[in-house]
Amino acid sequence: MPRPLKLKIGIEKGKITSVNETDGDLELIIDGVSKTYTNAYVLPGLVDSHAHIFGLGIKLNGLNLDGLTSAQSCVERAVNFDKYRGDWIVGRGWNQELWHSKKYPNHKLLDEAFPNIPVFLVRVDGHAAWVNSTAMEIAGLNELTGDPRGGEIKRFKSGKPTGILIDNAMQLVRHFIPDYKFDVKKRFIIEALNHCAEFGLTEIHDMDVLPNILDAFLDLNKNNQLPIRVTSYITGQTDEYIKANVKPLETEMLRVAGIKFYADGAIGSRGAAMLEPYTDSKLTGILFLKSIELKKKIRVALKKGFQIATHAIGDAANRLVLNSYQKLREEGFTPENALLRIEHAQIVHPNDVEKFAKYSVFAAVQPIHFLSDAKMMINRIGIRANYAYPWKSLVQQNAVIAGGSDFPIESQNPFLGIDGFINRIPFDEENSWFSEERISLDDALDAYTINAHKASNISHKRGSIEVGKDADLTIIDNDFKDKKQSSIVNTKVIATIVNGKVVYENVL
Ligand SMILES: [Zn+2]
Repeated sequence: MPRPLKLKIGIEKGKITSVNETDGDLELIIDGVSKTYTNAYVLPGLVDSHAHIFGLGIKLNGLNLDGLTSAQSCVERAVNFDKYRGDWIVGRGWNQELWHSKKYPNHKLLDEAFPNIPVFLVRVDGHAAWVNSTAMEIAGLNELTGDPRGGEIKRFKSGKPTGILIDNAMQLVRHFIPDYKFDVKKRFIIEALNHCAEFGLTEIHDMDVLPNILDAFLDLNKNNQLPIRVTSYITGQTDEYIKANVKPLETEMLRVAGIKFYADGAIGSRGAAMLEPYTDSKLTGILFLKSIELKKKIRVALKKGFQIATHAIGDAANRLVLNSYQKLREEGFTPENALLRIEHAQIVHPNDVEKFAKYSVFAAVQPIHFLSDAKMMINRIGIRANYAYPWKSLVQQNAVIAGGSDFPIESQNPFLGIDGFINRIPFDEENSWFSEERISLDDALDAYTINAHKASNISHKRGSIEVGKDADLTIIDNDFKDKKQSSIVNTKVIATIVNGKVVYENVL
């Protein structure tokens, strides 16, 4: 059991060589050099089993206009920003509802500050872009351009575009924005991973990695610049990875392990595929792939030696993926040669829960989504919320659940997730919701350690503090004897050790 303990741990060349209990300070002896930590407890290194590293890099480093209270202040922030996609200024987060005028801006203010540099600023919700004249010229956008299907070009009375593009009209310009510069990609990745190390994370399962971003990871790995471990799951929906000739890779700090597919959308936008219509709509959501297509794509990826991670949120999507996985098992893809996981597994019909263990399907779940979305979910699916986020049901059926955050959508703090698992108290609430689906502290810690490694086929090397295993450790100030929310979420990370190296230290 991965309880936080006081131990004396010997480490040589990145491996654990001795483990002894101690009454005194926690002690690490790394390649002969002793380090002690007072009031400290050690866990096997915590893993986030579903996240988006480059997305966090953009969030931390990109041009962020969140919360600014005027169009002018957005422009001022953009002026002082480094360009990192060719010559373009690209940013996100403006919201005219926060401005005195409450009106959409137009290109003129941007043109004054940026007469020659193209600018593309996305609204906070991602459904509109504010662009300048240079950007429109590059895209060939003018009064003669018609509105694309599913989009609108806002226009002055003269018919000239104002510089505000809605939904699919954004693509008319976005299409011309160059990729991130290579050194920028690397900088964003390193900063995101260092940020993760501060939260005690020693490894990330990085989801939906695009081949052009993977290149930056490969380069960092080659030059020993990855601070914590990365296990990549490459975008598979459009077969881009095949065109880019991405192959599985197994190195100390970086593994290219799997391919990521999508079976449906999300609950908030009613894109999650439900067996019955939503409670607040007549619709049932969207299945992105038929079972036959999904199985075909999965067979190709399995034969190339990849693991499979499929996004499924609604009960119809979970059923489709589980039944597809069942068929693949029956075709001879065994748990030994074909690792299958479902990402999110949010709404699982009670009849389907047993299929996870029966067909050796890992469930990569994000407790923090429950904490954020519980209220909205009840509006969307009503009484079916009783079988949403079925952590305890899965554990009772012997399914292996791995914990994660889905950052940057949510916080990367794993202690919020651990607390979510054991207390299940939505944000801004005081009591546990659907408390029968809470899991024990041991199960929660397993989800963030050994189970996460099982779900990426590396548990023989990591996930417990044992002689011979990789020296990935998370040192914290909390022994978790107090399991109340206030205690768990306030856990402080004292040090993060990866491959026998101290990659983060905060001596309190
Ligand atoms: Zn995700």
